[in-house]
Amino acid sequence: MSQKLSAVMKHLSPKRLCVSAAALFAIFAINDMLSIEAKATVPVADVSSIIELPSLPLMSFSEAGLVGQEQLKVINHKVKKGQTMSGIFTQLGFSQALLLKIIKHNDDGKRLTKVMPGTELLFHVDAKDQMRSLAFDPTDTETLRISINEGNEVSTEVIAHQLQTQLVTANGSITHSLFGAGKQAGLTDKMVMQLAHIFSWDIDFVLEIRQGDSFSLIYEKIYKDGDYVSDGKILAASFTNQDKTYDAVYFEAKEGEGAYYAPNGRSMKKAFLRAPLNFSYISSNFNPRRLHPVTKRIKAHRGIDYAAPTGTPVFSAGNGKVIQSAYNKYNGNYVFVQHPNGIVTKYLHFSKRAVKKGQRVKQGQTIGYVGSTGMSSGPHLHYEFVYNGVHRNPRTVPLPKAEPLAKEKMPAFEQLSSPLLAELQGLNGKLVAKR
Ligand SMILES: [Zn+2]
Repeated sequence: MSQKLSAVMKHLSPKRLCVSAAALFAIFAINDMLSIEAKATVPVADVSSIIELPSLPLMSFSEAGLVGQEQLKVINHKVKKGQTMSGIFTQLGFSQALLLKIIKHNDDGKRLTKVMPGTELLFHVDAKDQMRSLAFDPTDTETLRISINEGNEVSTEVIAHQLQTQLVTANGSITHSLFGAGKQAGLTDKMVMQLAHIFSWDIDFVLEIRQGDSFSLIYEKIYKDGDYVSDGKILAASFTNQDKTYDAVYFEAKEGEGAYYAPNGRSMKKAFLRAPLNFSYISSNFNPRRLHPVTKRIKAHRGIDYAAPTGTPVFSAGNGKVIQSAYNKYNGNYVFVQHPNGIVTKYLHFSKRAVKKGQRVKQGQTIGYVGSTGMSSGPHLHYEFVYNGVHRNPRTVPLPKAEPLAKEKMPAFEQLSSPLLAELQGLNGKLVAKR
């Protein structure tokens, strides 16, 4: 057994080990599904050694001085909301004196008072129902084990875990909904939102997504000792909307200040969001036929109507100042925002307004909630984009170009982006071949 593996084994109960074995299978299932590219992959450290799990016994307490003991009973307790450690000890039949002794033992013991709901507590109990150890993860990168020996002495041990990041690729094309396509590609809804957010200045995810639109992305999955912990960030992504392809690459122009840039180095962030509302409220039951351009009666009607459930948060499309926040019988609850360069955006029929006249608002800030107040036949957002007093289509109106990367940053950006973009292109190619 490798040293690393034995370190892992030390704090694993049989149950935890099962979990990690399952997670490993999941890794390989995802591997097949998403065709993880070896060259772009930071391998999960020591996966190979973890796979070669020995047969029983899976755990030895020799280090804790419990070797040769009778079989210990395992109790797995997930901390529920509102539960106290004292309550848990009582419920499991352990004394308050013992709890106090642990807490007073040292700073590690004291961490028992700060356990969050959802934490898994793993107790080992001897034949006399005495607690012999308690292990839990106070953070994603640590396991704390508290042991009680035969002489009733407390000792604590913190095992540090390294997080491993694995790069994963995924791609898909839309048949029914973006979330459906995401699911099919193995993405969580959260990851789909993260993907859509990158392109939310270029693509209207409420009205303009069509059957046949497609996406590819390279993103991080984070593992702890082979166990999946969470998804990380998207490193690069491509979205094809109505045959126009947008690419974006994550880049830190300054350390810790990452953002997404187009291949030419221009920021994906622009002065105005394409759809000023949280599309996840709508797209979950998206119907491509309903999203025919007919709904976008911009000329006839001087605005765009977004049918959406009452209560859907509506964002300010850009930075600006609220110049109207009021109610009348036509507009219902409405908000107007003044932006630089003679642009005003208008939002009508709110169920509830979230800003006051005179208030400064940031792009993406919630200014109200979809409703059906005023002259409205059903819950929707009526959105207008007015440029120098004339109603315009925000897509075609000339707007200041997004901030590009500084010239001296371009070589570093290109070095990072070119392999990622090549990878995306390969993924896009696979989708075309599948069609
Ligand atoms: Zn309207």
